[in-house]
Amino acid sequence: MNRNWVTPLRLDLEKAALVHNWRWLTAQSGQAACGAAIKANGYGLGAQGVLRQLAGAGCRDFFVASWCEALALEDMPEGCALSVLHGVRDEDMAVAVASLARPTLNSLAQISRWRETGKPCDVMIDTGINRLGIAPEDVFGGALDGLNIDTLMSHLACADEDSAMNGHQLAAFRALAGRTTARRLSLANSAGICLGADYAFDLTRPGLALYGGVPRAEAAGQIKQVAHPQAQILQRRILKAGDSIGYNATFTAQVDMPVAIINLGYADGILRAFAGVGTAEGGRCAILGRVSMDLIALDVLALPEAKEGDWLTLDYALPSTAACTGLSQYELLTGLGSRFERVWR
Ligand SMILES: *Cc1c(COP(=O)(O)O)cnc(C)c1O
Repeated sequence: MNRNWVTPLRLDLEKAALVHNWRWLTAQSGQAACGAAIKANGYGLGAQGVLRQLAGAGCRDFFVASWCEALALEDMPEGCALSVLHGVRDEDMAVAVASLARPTLNSLAQISRWRETGKPCDVMIDTGINRLGIAPEDVFGGALDGLNIDTLMSHLACADEDSAMNGHQLAAFRALAGRTTARRLSLANSAGICLGADYAFDLTRPGLALYGGVPRAEAAGQIKQVAHPQAQILQRRILKAGDSIGYNATFTAQVDMPVAIINLGYADGILRAFAGVGTAEGGRCAILGRVSMDLIALDVLALPEAKEGDWLTLDYALPSTAACTGLSQYELLTGLGSRFERVWR
């Protein structure tokens, strides 16, 4: 392929912002080590790239959801560990035993499947989210006996809120300290880290905040935006007063106005929720009409020089974009599609 050829849409990814966010989360984690959740392709940013940047900064513990994701990260950097949060099904066993990654065991069936391998594992305890995990009573009853456990974890249900649930889960998890052979304890995700040192234990597991998400007010002003969707202008045109634009003619020009059509759409994760509220170039260009599968129209009155082939940046600060679109910060990241070229700078 011609090396000068580039796709017309890219994710501009700031290495310094990612590393800054990890360092801030590390500082907030106190004595605990700070890992990184890189499931869902590194929350849409590209798991390989995120892994490489964070490993370079000193991060050693990484988490994915499934073995499919683990296989895509086979050659881990020296000294780094990968944990597979969804554990092992029967059909995963051959892959899991051959892998350097550890399963996070979630059920009694998964435990009995893994125990005879003698290989290291992590274990998820359910302290109240009632999703995946072993009940504390089963731990006290000896369910983990004979396992080679690296990290005992639990996951907070309401860490992004000031909920009594947080204290209940903390107490339930703390009661397990010293009651298993696990080398480390881990409870906090991004929001959990913001709840304070009590929640950090030995290892924290942020995802969202690494990638620019602000999980709680404590992190506002501390976390930097990492990902900037950018697309090329495919055509610039003048919309005449009275002309409409796009599917279903939902926008009609009141006066003659310059418009840029950019190579980006809902198939790239820029959903129709952006219509009427999304902007580009620091608020200077409003999205006009419907978002199409592969195209978005922008008002470029503020950009008199913008021409075909120029690159424009969609405004994608996660807290404000979530507020105006009604999408969650997580959805904004993980929905970013496969057509973007992911470029770290
Ligand atoms: C996804 C996930 C995390 C990271 O959560 P964020 O809210 O993105 O920080 C941590 N732990 C577990 C078990 C997870 O599934």
